[in-house]
Amino acid sequence: MKTVSALASLVVGTVMLLAPTTATAPPGSPAAGARAPTGAWEWPLPGTPAVLHGFDPPAQRWLAGHRGVDLAGPPGQEVSAPSSGIVSYVGRIVDRPVLVIDHGSGLLTSLEPVRSTLVVGSIVAAGDEVGIIGTGAHCDGRCLHWGLRLDGQYIDPLLTIRDTRPSILLPVN
Ligand SMILES: [Zn+2]
Repeated sequence: MKTVSALASLVVGTVMLLAPTTATAPPGSPAAGARAPTGAWEWPLPGTPAVLHGFDPPAQRWLAGHRGVDLAGPPGQEVSAPSSGIVSYVGRIVDRPVLVIDHGSGLLTSLEPVRSTLVVGSIVAAGDEVGIIGTGAHCDGRCLHWGLRLDGQYIDPLLTIRDTRPSILLPVN
């Protein structure tokens, strides 16, 4: 019986791994599609910046990867909010200045390297200037790194700009 029981657990575990998209949102929370970015956000740099390095998430959380996109821009270039929100972090992380905007609904934008005079709690509208490109980290002197998290999971920020899919599915944990 012990073997059968272990096998049953394995089967259940496998089924859960194979069918994560059938998980339903907790009662009272909005459906995933309702709060996904709609492709109506704005570039955080003027015009249509070149994408130097696209989103390349690691296969596993602990592996290396690129958790955002790098947009071409020199130090001093004006940086704007891609969507409305509240500044939730301004400061240095290791070797670069970072600005984080909380858009609500579990969506967080991180922009770096960005020097900003805003403070935590500042309210920004889409297109508002939030700072300028600084120096540091892998974008040093040539780009702006834009990261976007939904419920703590990194997703491709360009999905907010280029509506390549009907909606963004909730990331699988
Ligand atoms: Zn980057």
